[in-house]
Amino acid sequence: MKTYHPAQALIIGSGAGGAMTAHVLASAGMEPLVIEEGKRWILSDYGNNCPDGMQKMYRRRGMTPIMGSVPIGYAEGRCYGGGTEINSGFWHRTPPEILLRWKAQYDLEASYPKDLEEHFLWVENQLHVSLYDKPWPASTRIFARGIEAMGWSYQEVPRVVENCEGLNYCPNGCPGGAKQSMSRTLLPQAEQAGAKVITNCRVKLLIKQKKRVTGVLAVVQRENGSEELIRIDAENIFVCAGATETPALLRRSGIRFHIGDSFRIHPMLKVAAKFDEEINAHKSVLPLLQVKEFWPEISLGGAFFAPGHLAMILSENWLSHKDQMNCLRNMAIFYVAARGIGKGTIRSSRTGEDATSIRYTLAREDLGNLSKGLAYLSTLLLAAGAVAVYPSVYGLGPLNNEIEAIRWLDELLPKSGLSLTTIHAFSSCPIGERIDRCAANSFGKVYHYDNLYINDGSMIPDSPGVNPQGTIMGFARRNAMHFVEEQ
Ligand SMILES: Cc1cc2nc3c(=O)[nH]c(=O)nc-3n(C[C@H](O)[C@H](O)[C@H](O)COP(=O)(O)OP(=O)(O)OC[C@H]3O[C@@H](n4cnc5c(N)ncnc54)[C@H](O)[C@@H]3O)c2cc1C
Repeated sequence: MKTYHPAQALIIGSGAGGAMTAHVLASAGMEPLVIEEGKRWILSDYGNNCPDGMQKMYRRRGMTPIMGSVPIGYAEGRCYGGGTEINSGFWHRTPPEILLRWKAQYDLEASYPKDLEEHFLWVENQLHVSLYDKPWPASTRIFARGIEAMGWSYQEVPRVVENCEGLNYCPNGCPGGAKQSMSRTLLPQAEQAGAKVITNCRVKLLIKQKKRVTGVLAVVQRENGSEELIRIDAENIFVCAGATETPALLRRSGIRFHIGDSFRIHPMLKVAAKFDEEINAHKSVLPLLQVKEFWPEISLGGAFFAPGHLAMILSENWLSHKDQMNCLRNMAIFYVAARGIGKGTIRSSRTGEDATSIRYTLAREDLGNLSKGLAYLSTLLLAAGAVAVYPSVYGLGPLNNEIEAIRWLDELLPKSGLSLTTIHAFSSCPIGERIDRCAANSFGKVYHYDNLYINDGSMIPDSPGVNPQGTIMGFARRNAMHFVEEQ
């Protein structure tokens, strides 16, 4: 077996958390080594149709099941840059109220808004966090119209983009390079500063010796389909493999203290809405607004639109709704997201193959919030002029008037008919000083180990209630800088 020279720092995963860690360590002169399971794509590979994009850049082509009382479809990135290559780029700082709740519940050190301010500011400058600089597309204008009709407040959410052409390619990778994903920003900068990145390489196991992790066993996938098992020794290891694969890797390496037992998500319910006017959502950037009126428990927003995505929503009641596919120019897709009070578990496959088992128990509060959210969203869309709203719920809809919509404020949606999705996952290895519930200390150092760290979505102690990339990057920078100072 080939053994690589010891690295001072080995980083597993090159997504939001891993790229940030690599950038901070490389800037401090540490020459970190990044191992990424997915492939390094170039701009000309980006922007293909959804099935191609998902085959290239997503784990399990974007079809990871979360098991539980309600089926939940989960998608995450698997490529150089991780989820930041395929996400919509919406940017939020962690809301102050949420930071204070984490302080109270997890005794998270150095996590007041003032402690994170410099990290958020730094990322916002680097990733060009900004508002859309062109006129809003029809789907955004219609959404605004409905929100105003309800008398609610909304905000255009800033995104990590520069010169977005609104081409509707976000989930397939941005072919114009407008999205400031990690492959466009922090990763190449880290490589210039001395970081090395090995792609097509999946870490199977951490090698332990008492309270230290001395290296990893990993499998490199060659272009010709062959595989090679390698060993890489390292002085410090950062696991940044994302909210599902970080706990999976730790657990199968025998590291299980509060690991993979408190997985959280933002469960999402999607609807398609049909209008008399043409929207052409399949040709424009997704709706740019979010309704925070009912935050933190409920958020409403707009989702990516492609014919396949519309078909998935209509397929819940295909026989009666399939003809709506002919009206796709007049349709747009929106979502209700709950903050996610339920909890789940992550369990690894023993052999290290890509077969992690994910469970989530939808809390009664989640069901209530999704039901209420559907009432709010559908009423809003009808007020905006929708002629029908098609929820992704078997046996339900279309909702054609306010009375059919508003009833879900007081009734629970049938669990047996729900088809939920999520793209926001976290909290499987929470950080904080509360050793009775946390997997790692406030700066991501895994309890009971001297040189093992986590620095990705898995460390987020609880649902942030907002798109998570900002929270992950802010905390990852804070933690990596703390590590550098300690060395
Ligand atoms: C379609 C979509 C849209 C989204 N939209 C938004 C949005 O608009 N705004 C927002 O804030 N968030 C959004 N998100 C979520 C956001 O992208 C993620 O929360 C974020 O990327 C997670 O960062 P991370 O570092 O935890 O993990 P990731 O970014 O998922 O990176 C983990 C990396 O580790 C690699 N890896 C895993 N296991 C191993 C292993 N054993 N060995 C080697 N490498 C490994 C993976 O291949 C992956 O590249 C979206 C996500 C998706 C999927």
